[in-house]
Amino acid sequence: MSGSTKKTRRNPDCPHCRTGSETFRYSKSVYKFDVDLAREIVADGRLPVELDPEDVKYSVDTTHIYPEHVDHVDPSFPGIIAQMWYPEPDGTVSHGNTLIDGHHRAARCLRDNLPYFVVLLNEEESQRILLKGPNREEAFRIAGRVGQACPVPV
Ligand SMILES: [Zn+2]
Repeated sequence: MSGSTKKTRRNPDCPHCRTGSETFRYSKSVYKFDVDLAREIVADGRLPVELDPEDVKYSVDTTHIYPEHVDHVDPSFPGIIAQMWYPEPDGTVSHGNTLIDGHHRAARCLRDNLPYFVVLLNEEESQRILLKGPNREEAFRIAGRVGQACPVPV
């Protein structure tokens, strides 16, 4: 499925319409996700679900969006949500979701008042695509070191 361009309107003059391998960095690059692998995983026919409009807005607000690129993406193509685990300074672990692919499609839907659909990675898949940053087990191990300096910058 990756490499298909029939649903997009890539613009040769736009540096963001790139086709190379893709990763997504999150939280000051503490986390890095393999977006290409994620796209392979979700190409199994799983059904997209509509992302809550508040989550769409949050995903767009917390990412750098290139306004000129928003018109080049196909908003009907679903984004990808991965699960992540974050060690908190108080010794607990936050378990959350983050959009790792499709931020410009999300921005397009937000702008044009369209529903935005995403496909979800389960826990095991989310750990498989994690290139950098604590996985579930590591997050609990790091969080367990209460009283020591947290090695993950927050
Ligand atoms: Zn573009």
